[in-house]
Amino acid sequence: MWEALQTWTAAYQGATPAALSVWLQIVADALILVACVALPPALWQFARRRRDLRFRWLLLLIAALFLASGMLLAAHMLVAEAPLWLGTARTVAAATVAIAAAAAAWLLLPQLLNTRDELRDAYRALSQRHRELMASQKRQRMLVDTAAEGVWMLDPEGRTTFANKAMAEMLGCATLKGRTLFDFVFADDQTPTEAFLARWMAGDPRRTEFRLRRADGELLFVLVSAAPVIEADGTTSGVCVMVTDISERERMAQELQRLNLELGQRVEARTRELEETNRELAREMVVREYVQAELAASNDRLNHYLQALRNHTEDIRQLNQLSDALHSCDSPAAMVPVLARFCDSFFKSRGGVLFQWRDGELLLVGDAWGDPWRHFADLEERVRAVLARSETVFEAHQQGAAAPANLLCIPLNARGMVVGVLVVTREDSFWSGDPVSDQNTQQVVRALAEHVALAGYNLTLLEQLREQSFVDPLTSLYNRRYLNDHVEREIAAYERKQQPFALLILDVDHFKLVNDRYGHDVGDEALRAIAQVILSQTRKTDVCCRLGGEEFVVLLPGAAQELALERAEIIREAVHNCAITGLPSSHSLTISIGVSVFPDHGSDMSCLLRAADQALYRSKRGGRNRTSLAMLEC
Ligand code: GH3
Ligand code: MG
Ligand code: MG
Repeated sequence: MWEALQTWTAAYQGATPAALSVWLQIVADALILVACVALPPALWQFARRRRDLRFRWLLLLIAALFLASGMLLAAHMLVAEAPLWLGTARTVAAATVAIAAAAAAWLLLPQLLNTRDELRDAYRALSQRHRELMASQKRQRMLVDTAAEGVWMLDPEGRTTFANKAMAEMLGCATLKGRTLFDFVFADDQTPTEAFLARWMAGDPRRTEFRLRRADGELLFVLVSAAPVIEADGTTSGVCVMVTDISERERMAQELQRLNLELGQRVEARTRELEETNRELAREMVVREYVQAELAASNDRLNHYLQALRNHTEDIRQLNQLSDALHSCDSPAAMVPVLARFCDSFFKSRGGVLFQWRDGELLLVGDAWGDPWRHFADLEERVRAVLARSETVFEAHQQGAAAPANLLCIPLNARGMVVGVLVVTREDSFWSGDPVSDQNTQQVVRALAEHVALAGYNLTLLEQLREQSFVDPLTSLYNRRYLNDHVEREIAAYERKQQPFALLILDVDHFKLVNDRYGHDVGDEALRAIAQVILSQTRKTDVCCRLGGEEFVVLLPGAAQELALERAEIIREAVHNCAITGLPSSHSLTISIGVSVFPDHGSDMSCLLRAADQALYRSKRGGRNRTSLAMLEC
C-alpha cells in the first residue's frame, strides 16, 4: 500500500491543479471508503436493536450495498494500476446502490407514509398508555403509601431508594431517606444481612423472618419477601422488599412458647406429683396387700385356734364325762370298759389295756379291749421299759408289720408314784404334726392319765379298805362281816340259780392247851397254819373265814350235804396231818366240824350258823376230830 501511495504521489507530482485534483479525489475516495465501511455496522447494530421496525431488511440491504461499494472502492484505491473493470465495477456498484436506494425509497414511500400513521397511532396509544401508567403508578403509590406492610426499595449496597410510610413507621423514623438497611441491623447480623441482600438481588423469592432494630433501639421482628428491581436494560438496580411486622406475632409466639414452657413445667411437676402419688399408692397397695394377707393368715390362725378350742372344749367335756364315769366305778376292773369307750372315741383306738403297777409287777386290770398283743407281742416288756425310763408318754411304731400299728403308753401317777399304765394302740400315729392339735392331744393324754390314776388309786384304796374291813389280820382269811355279806349274796343268788351252798364251822380241839403249853405265839402260828391248810383244801370260789378265837367257817357254794361232808372230811384230815412250827410232832392238832346246808338247815345266816354250831357241838361231844351234819332245819 505504501508503495501504491508512493506511486500515486509520484504520478501526480509536477502538475499543480491536476495534482490537487488528484489529491482531492484521493481524499474523497478515502472519505467515501470510510463512510462505506462505517455505515454498515451502524445500520446492522440499529437493525439488530430495533427488531420492532418493519423495514429492517431494507436497512441491511443498504448496509450490504455500502459495504460492497466500499470494498470495491478500496480495491480500486489499493491497486496501483487499477484495471478498467474495477473502476467499472465500482461505478456499477455505486449506481446500483444509488438506484437500489432510490427504488427502495420510492417503492417504500407509501409504506413509510403508512408507517408514519402507524407511528402516530402508536404514539397516541403510547401516550394513552403513559397516562394510564401514570394513573396506575399514582394508585400504586397511593397503595404503597397506605399499605400496612412496609415497602422498602434498596439499591445493591442496601441504601434506601424508596420506603413507604408504613416502613418508616415500622422502623420508628419519619423518613428513611439517606438510611441503609444496615442502619437497622444488629451488629451480629451484618454478615448474614449482606448474604440476604445478595440473595434478594439474585432473585431468591423465599420469605424470611428477619430481626431488625428500630431507631429507638427496640427489637423488631419482620417477615420479609423481596424481588429484584430489573431495569429496562435488564440490569438489576436494587431490590424491592416487602416487610411485614410480625413482632406482635413473635411476641405472642414467644408468650405462647413461654406459656407452653410453663405449661410443660406445670405438667411435668404435676406428672411428677402424680408419679409420686402413684408410687405412694403402689406402696400403700403393697402394704395393704401385706396387711390383708397378714389379716387373712391371722384369721386362719384364729379360726384354727377357735376350732382347736372347740375341739379342746369337746375334749374337756368328754374328759369330764370320763371322770364322772370313772368315779362311779366300784372297782378298777369296771374302769376298763369306760376307758375303752373313751379311747375308741378320742384316739380311734384299735385296742388297749390297763395295768396296775404294784410291787414291781404288772397286774392286768379287768380285760383288755381289742387285741393289743396282736402287733405288740412284747407289750409288757415295752411297758416295763417305759416305767424304767420314767417316761411320761411313750409311743412306739410297729415296723414291717402287715398292718401299721402305733402304741401309746401312758404311765399313771398318783401321790408321786406310778400306780399303773394305760396302753392304747391304733393304726395311725397319735400325732398329726399340727402343733396346736398335738398340744391338745398331749393335754388330753395328761388329763386322762391324771383322771385314770386318781380314779384307779381311789378304787384301789377303797378296795384295800374294804378288804381290810373284811379280812382277819392274823390269818388273812375273811372275817365274820365278810361272811355275813357273802352269805346274803349267796342266799339272794339262790333265787336265780337254785344252787345250794354249805356252811362248815371248824373249831380247833383243845387249843387252850397249846397256848398254855407252848405260848401264845405258837398258838398264833398254829392258827395261821390251819388257815393255810383250809385255803389249800378249798377252791377259789369257796369262802374261808375266821369267825374269831380258834373257830373257822368255810362256805362251799353249790355244795349239797353229801359233798359238804366229803369236803369237810378232807379239810379235817389235812389239818390233822399238818405239821405246825413250834409244836412237837407228838402234838398233832385236830379240828371238829359242824356242817349245815342251805336251804336244808336254814333260810338265813343265823339259822345256818346255829345249825352248824349244834352239829359242831355234837362232834365235840362225840370225841372231837370228826364231822357232824346238822340235824334239823332251824
Ligand atoms: P375245846 O376242845 O372244847 O374247844 O377246848 P378248847 O380249849 O379249844 O376251847 P376253849 O374255848 O376252852 O379255849 C379256847 C382257847 O383259844 C382260849 C384262848 O386262849 C385261845 N385263843 C382264842 N383266841 C386266840 C388267839 O387269837 N390266839 C391264841 N394264841 N389263842 C387264842
Ligand atoms: Mg372254840
Ligand atoms: Mg376249841
